[in-house]
Amino acid sequence: MHLFNTLTRKKEEFKPLHKQVVRIYNCGPTVYTYAHIGNFRTFIFDDILRRYLEYKGCEVKQVMNITDVGHMTLDDDEHLEGDTGEDKLERQAVLEKKDPWQLAKFYTAAFMDDFKALRLREPMVFPRATEHIPDMIEMVRGLIDKGYAYVVDGEVLYDISRFPGYGRLSGNTLKDLKAGARVAVSEKKRTPFDFHLWKNDPRHIMQWPSPWNEHGFPGWHLECSVMAMKYLGDMIDIHTGGEDNIFPHHENEIAQSEAFTGTEYVRYWLHVRHLLVNGEKMSKSKGNFHTVRDLFAKGYDGAEIRYALMSAHYRQNLNFTLEGLEDSRRAIRRLRDFLAHLETCRGGGTGGRVSRLCDGAARKFEEAMDDDLNIAGALGAVFNLVRDVNRLGGDVSPEEAAEAKALMLRFDDVLAVMHEEREELSQEFKQKIEEREEARKAKDFATADAIRRWFAERGYELEDTPEGTRWKPKQGAKGGGDSRKVGE
Ligand code: AMP
Ligand code: ZN
Repeated sequence: MHLFNTLTRKKEEFKPLHKQVVRIYNCGPTVYTYAHIGNFRTFIFDDILRRYLEYKGCEVKQVMNITDVGHMTLDDDEHLEGDTGEDKLERQAVLEKKDPWQLAKFYTAAFMDDFKALRLREPMVFPRATEHIPDMIEMVRGLIDKGYAYVVDGEVLYDISRFPGYGRLSGNTLKDLKAGARVAVSEKKRTPFDFHLWKNDPRHIMQWPSPWNEHGFPGWHLECSVMAMKYLGDMIDIHTGGEDNIFPHHENEIAQSEAFTGTEYVRYWLHVRHLLVNGEKMSKSKGNFHTVRDLFAKGYDGAEIRYALMSAHYRQNLNFTLEGLEDSRRAIRRLRDFLAHLETCRGGGTGGRVSRLCDGAARKFEEAMDDDLNIAGALGAVFNLVRDVNRLGGDVSPEEAAEAKALMLRFDDVLAVMHEEREELSQEFKQKIEEREEARKAKDFATADAIRRWFAERGYELEDTPEGTRWKPKQGAKGGGDSRKVGE
């Protein structure tokens, strides 16, 4: 399998350090608001990578952190440096007048709901930054002892001039940074590009005492180095994130970790291109984002959103549109219809043609995925199989159909869009049905009719049966899935 390594800027053959066990660290969400679907583009990529390695028989140890300390994030490239600027968690807490701990807890739970709805496999661990403060203090102490960090006014800074490899990942070497200097010079810093390992601010909402100050909190980069190495060891196979993480976040992680351990930190760095809206990065600060919930409210489900976000190659920008979601809905429908069709095959057999088609499709799927996770190519192989088996018409025997079905389900171990999950039925739909029941009981037929129209506008019709009300896609309309009984 080949993966494009940001560090070497080329596709390289992927070989895990320990045969068959792959250790992966994913930069996770900052939980001061709902994650948007741009974030989930990256997390879905993480999931596909993990699932494909598992498909190939590897054991994957996956860690995704939860950034619940109030850091500013390096959203956009407004700041060259990762530790200046306002603190978004703090700002949001003030905005909502909630305790930041509660806020982080609330949005962590929301993140987990969305994570499940998009069918992501749970990592081995979701470490929270706030639960690793002593480990972080330990690492800062080690970096000071080794001469890579220094203390000024109770704050600890990393001296990037001491780390010769600085800039290897992003191209931002100290020399280039000096040439293009865009940051304000701070008197505290030895070079203006040194970054904070540990800060101090009595006004900061989350703070911990440390050997250097009373009102301290860690720099954002530090937490990922600490949690990655704690759960995965000093040298890990793969580290991922969105492309905005390359600099300074990941560059600084390398500087900290390698200075601390004296060994290489990460062997393969993978970065996902941004999800765009009208050609611009979807971002919290621009406000041009959709959350998973926004799309549920428009009647789309987790599989459809997942499909739309995963269907372009991760190293290409993807422009998000609602038409894209409609395409996803149709694509999933085609896959599920095919699975349903296979259940009905009663032919006398095609003389091995189905087997040959299956072998060819499996080979093409794997060739595409082995080539830096070329998902579009892999999906192409799946849809060609659907088309070719459909063309064999009534000849396909039950045994052949079973073979095709087994392969489709194996593909779905990676894609995770074909199986239907009752739990993920839109909450809003259920609620509307309940409201309609109430209205009918109260003989408020105007409301009951309005709700029926509400479904019709979304492409569904309602069917009242003795067991309850079901919704089903109108014939030829866009709705998705089978007829469903409420509460199933
Ligand atoms: P954050 O919650 O801002 O720390 O971001 C979580 C993850 O989402 C990071 O890996 C980011 O690089 C990634 N990310 C942020 N915006 C986008 C976007 N528009 N498209 C893809 N990934 C993104
Ligand atoms: Zn990170």
